[in-house]
Amino acid sequence: MAACTEIIDDIEDLIQSQDITPKERYANKSNVTVRAKRIRKAIEAKEKDAAVPEKSVLESVIPGTQSIYLKTWGCAHNNSDSEYMAGQLASYGYNITSDKSDADLWLLNSCTVKNPSEDTFRNEIQAANKMGKHVVLAGCVPQAAPKSDYMHGLSIVGVHQIDRVTEVVEETLKGHSVRLLQAKKLNGKRVAGPQLALPKVRKNPLIEIIPINSGCLNACTYCKTKFARADLVSYPVEEIVQRAAHVFTEGVCEIWLTSEDTGTYGRDIGTSLPELLWQLVAVIPDGCMLRLGMTNPPYILEHLEEMAKILAHPKVYSFLHVPIQSGSDSVLSDMKREYCRSDFEQIVDFLNDKVPGITIATDIICGFPTETEEDFEHTMTLCEKYKFPSLFINQFYPRPGTPAAKMQRIPADQVKVRTKRLTDLFYTYEPYVGKYVLGDRQKVLVTEISHDKKHYVGHNKCYEQVLLPMDKNLLGKLVEVEIVGITKFSMLAKVVQEEKDWVRCTTLENGKQALEVDGSVIKIVSKDDKTHSYAVFLFFAFISCGIALICRYFMFSM
Ligand code: SF4
Repeated sequence: MAACTEIIDDIEDLIQSQDITPKERYANKSNVTVRAKRIRKAIEAKEKDAAVPEKSVLESVIPGTQSIYLKTWGCAHNNSDSEYMAGQLASYGYNITSDKSDADLWLLNSCTVKNPSEDTFRNEIQAANKMGKHVVLAGCVPQAAPKSDYMHGLSIVGVHQIDRVTEVVEETLKGHSVRLLQAKKLNGKRVAGPQLALPKVRKNPLIEIIPINSGCLNACTYCKTKFARADLVSYPVEEIVQRAAHVFTEGVCEIWLTSEDTGTYGRDIGTSLPELLWQLVAVIPDGCMLRLGMTNPPYILEHLEEMAKILAHPKVYSFLHVPIQSGSDSVLSDMKREYCRSDFEQIVDFLNDKVPGITIATDIICGFPTETEEDFEHTMTLCEKYKFPSLFINQFYPRPGTPAAKMQRIPADQVKVRTKRLTDLFYTYEPYVGKYVLGDRQKVLVTEISHDKKHYVGHNKCYEQVLLPMDKNLLGKLVEVEIVGITKFSMLAKVVQEEKDWVRCTTLENGKQALEVDGSVIKIVSKDDKTHSYAVFLFFAFISCGIALICRYFMFSM
């Protein structure tokens, strides 16, 4: 799980590894100087005229043979969209590359939650233009504001049209500009999005992200995501359950449910989140796990009893992300969050009581325009009371077009002081100290590689991060471990179970395929490829030896 710092995400879902780092955030500001408008205009004109490489127009080239660089910002929903787009492009023949300079086209999938995230998206478009690359824009930024100056003339694939990405890419490579931004409809009725059964290229082959609905039922005054994802539309229960059952046959051992507000799931189609979850746990194989994504407080309140039972189920992580955003009822009302502090406290108290060891993560926005010192004190007392192990702290960002952007802002230095006070509070406690002691044993499902690339990352039942040595391949295995170290954000452990007793939860380690680690990326390798490479190596080795022997013979016979 991601650490808490000032760069944390607020709405939608937990911070992802693709989110901008503080370094990236400030990189684009290092050269900022204030200049007179006229000078800036002259510089801009000069920059425009500076030699920009011509984009190659590929009218006569076979479609599906080019390379695409795909970059994603934001939440799990956006990451799932990127995986679907990559799946379709790859099925069509396109090569998905991580090498920007080698790519013919850059597909940039954006997030509109925070200003810095949009800044890096804009910079990436400029970088692509400078390198003479074709560009297709995707995600919530162009969906919410397609007329922005910096998107002028560029192709856009809207958040509900990602199943048509190959057409947009193909036309763009031919030099055309295509924009598909309409809501998706079936028989005249809005649907949540493209079918879940589409092909996918997963960033982590062990984890499937399933969007269960699109949009939400709120109208929070600071949120621009609503402009892009609109009102709630849920996928049918059967489609989600079928998808889940299928992905386990593809080697997945963990599913994440995601949406702008998972708690609202089903209200538009006469069902509910608990009904979906009970059907899902029935198709999860032994050892595999389900992680539920972010839910806002209001709609989960009425399902608390059922939710507690589901979160205690052995195949569901005892983990819930419930963003409160502020501890003050007055600020919550100005944010139009549709709940008050006591509703949130009721959820946390109930779940802490009924679900052993549950991890509850929350988000705070510091410096909302109407937040007074007293309001902020309420936020501090709430965080002191619960000592959340994951606390995502954001400064308020005025997103263009939202009601909150028109409100009088709090001075930036005050916002910084509040953010720092809350961050300092977060660092005063150790969530795992007292909860665990060295020598404790736990079962963990191993699915990831740590950022420093030195450990496997597993999660225990409460979705707490456990770091393990990389001496034996633990990917996709459920193993028993012993805690040997405790830090603020994770636990260090060693495996204490014999290899024969590990539960193999992925079908990818099957003799024909294997999982390999390349840096922090987990790759599927086909054993046939390996055998083939080995055979090619032996063939060349044999030929080289033969040539060497012949040369030697002639040298000595002369
Ligand atoms: S409007 Fe509110 S509930 Fe809906 S996506 Fe935005 S922040 Fe979340």
